Amino acid sequence: MTMDRIPQALWLPVTQMKDLEEHPALRICSGKGIYVYNAKGKPYIDAISSWWTNIFGHANPRITHALAKQAAQLEHVLFAGVIHPPAEELARRLADLTPDELTKVFFAGDGASAVEIAMKMSYGYRRNTGQPEKRRFVGLSGGYHGETLGALSICGHDAFSDIYRPLMPDNISVTGPDCYRCPYDRTRTDCDAECFEPMERTLEERGREITAVFVEPLAQGAAGWRFYPPRYLHKLRECTRHHDIHLAFDEIAVGFGRLGTMFAMEQAGVTPDFVTLSKSITSGTLPLSVVMTTDAVYESFLGDFTELKAFMHSHTYMGNPLACAVANETLSMFEELNVLETNKPKYRHLADYAAQRFAGHRHVGEVRSLGFITCVELVADPGTRTPLDWKQRTGFRIFREALKRGALLRNLGDCIYFLPPYVITQDEITRLVDIAHAAMVEVLGE
Ligand SMILES: *Cc1c(COP(=O)(O)O)cnc(C)c1O
Repeated sequence: MTMDRIPQALWLPVTQMKDLEEHPALRICSGKGIYVYNAKGKPYIDAISSWWTNIFGHANPRITHALAKQAAQLEHVLFAGVIHPPAEELARRLADLTPDELTKVFFAGDGASAVEIAMKMSYGYRRNTGQPEKRRFVGLSGGYHGETLGALSICGHDAFSDIYRPLMPDNISVTGPDCYRCPYDRTRTDCDAECFEPMERTLEERGREITAVFVEPLAQGAAGWRFYPPRYLHKLRECTRHHDIHLAFDEIAVGFGRLGTMFAMEQAGVTPDFVTLSKSITSGTLPLSVVMTTDAVYESFLGDFTELKAFMHSHTYMGNPLACAVANETLSMFEELNVLETNKPKYRHLADYAAQRFAGHRHVGEVRSLGFITCVELVADPGTRTPLDWKQRTGFRIFREALKRGALLRNLGDCIYFLPPYVITQDEITRLVDIAHAAMVEVLGE
């Protein structure tokens, strides 16, 4: 318990630094494939893909090569009034991969900035088209869109937002879907999304002041991987159209194959007015994010320069050529390696094996899977679905036990989940699930 367990100058994100006295930070010195290694060379399976980014493994030779090649050609150039081949190519490819209506691609650096940009574009569109009273945004309970003040104002997580509420714009939170604790007692397959009702009511009552609704389509990540059916999004699309409200899909976590399709919007069969992308777009190599939108939004900002309608927003490193080059290589790998198909048997095995291993335990409430994500929700009592006492830190203790056994499974509260790099093999999936199960039994008993 000495002070030198706490790094002298570092301050880590979402970490109580005092905790490190008792639970020192994991120091990672290298990575290869699905593994990251400490200084002594001990491997850890990167079970959540380094915060949902890494899809083709650490130090992937194709990605590394694309990065080195671009670095030798052009590492960076300012992006206002300047273009370069990697950004041109990436914008064109993203426009080709997404529904026809999404024609315009705006680059930024991280996910939260992309969300802020989509918010500003939506409101800018209202100003430009003479509807300035439409200035509020709607987010869902459990929703997560990043932690800068604007993005945070539409998140549904009190732990992140409560103390900063006085600093934030006054936006609207609506109770969203929660299939595990569904008050209508439906299963995900037989439901008609009755849980859309609070959203319908809000849009009905306050539609005149709302410019956009932001959702994570089909899967709310930070909420503990809550999955919900496309029907909710069908209703949301219809209702937002009816009230002249933009619909924004935050696909930062789920884009690039995570839910089984390239994007969640294809699986849902819904085209939004804005899409935000990031995380896996560079295979977890460099920060890059994207906002895609429609001609209607883009054209509202067009005009003679004296009209002062240009979209006044910039970040220094936006459109960084290195990041764009690795994103282009990522897309090439999707095309050439038939990734979406080869992933299928792997994630089926993950879902089946995790269900077999975990279901039936007296503290396992639900084992749920969608695409290449499987989440085990631990509860005090599966009968009543009562959560465990958070002060017991059950999920955290399981995470620590799994580290000892060679897996880096950062828990979300009392949800233990698997979101591995796509390059993982079926045998490695089996090992990962076994490690997590052993860690759970160590903490909670058989
Ligand atoms: C991670 C994430 C963000 C924020 O991205 P950052 O790069 O961390 O700012 C926003 N939305 C969703 C759905 C995310 O998963």
